Amino acid sequence: MTLQGKTAVITGSNSGIGLGVARELARAGADIVLNSFTDRDEDHALAAAIGSEFGVTARYVAADMSKAGDCRALIESAGTCDILVNNAGIQHVAPIDEFPADKWDAIIAINMNSAFHTTAAALPKMRAAGWGRVVNIASAHGLTASPYKSAYVAAKHGVVGLTKVTALETAEEPITANAICPGYVLTPLVEAQIPDTMEKYCMGREEVIKKVMLDRQPSREFATVEQLGGTTVFLCSDAAAQITGTTISVDGGWTAL
Ligand code: NAD
Repeated sequence: MTLQGKTAVITGSNSGIGLGVARELARAGADIVLNSFTDRDEDHALAAAIGSEFGVTARYVAADMSKAGDCRALIESAGTCDILVNNAGIQHVAPIDEFPADKWDAIIAINMNSAFHTTAAALPKMRAAGWGRVVNIASAHGLTASPYKSAYVAAKHGVVGLTKVTALETAEEPITANAICPGYVLTPLVEAQIPDTMEKYCMGREEVIKKVMLDRQPSREFATVEQLGGTTVFLCSDAAAQITGTTISVDGGWTAL
């Protein structure tokens, strides 16, 4: 399977799943554009290191996915955009009646609205190239719910809906749009929730991981960022050309329960 000659833009890709996806796309031969909202030397160095490791062109472009203009500018700066992975995401956990309005707005903007803006900017480029793949990193929370994650659950359900509409609007073209729905992956986003959960349930770190996270996943294992990357590469392959408008769960059986 080769993605040589394709350019992939991965939003929110200087850590966690986005970085894992970017590395697997580069391993498959794609040129990559990494992104986050920061603009540090280490971000650019990360892209350079991936480029030399896999022999592809790799760039880092700073753009804030909470801003419509930045989303569109990111896609424009890529030149061509054959593969778009909407991955940028944040989380906040609180009951609805205590959920800060600014956190709600930020989660909806970064986790959902950005996918609309980047997709709108990328589709004309995919049409011009005669080939395209949109892969939205949704969540098990795009198919089911948990208390205290109202904005996240709403945004991820929205991403799943947007994925279906994108697929239908491109159904007669050589473009596909799909969502990947991970369960828990031990990335900085999930690690950040552990101390709060420990305090709330008076548990130790290992107990929280086992009880609150792994108990939801019948496999009793976390998925890895490499596995999420491999699923993305598959969706970009010719074997997946007729897979569009669907969700692929990478959740150890969570949503089968
Ligand atoms: P992470 O915190 O490691 O990565 C999030 C990425 O988004 C980082 O690169 C961060 O810099 C970037 N980002 C944050 N705000 C941004 C902004 N305003 N503009 C641009 N980039 C921004 O978290 P992760 O777990 O790798 O999450 C990646 C995606 O996977 C998210 O959409 C998340 O909802 C989803 N997801 C994660 C899990 C999990 O268990 N880790 C499960 C399901 C879905």
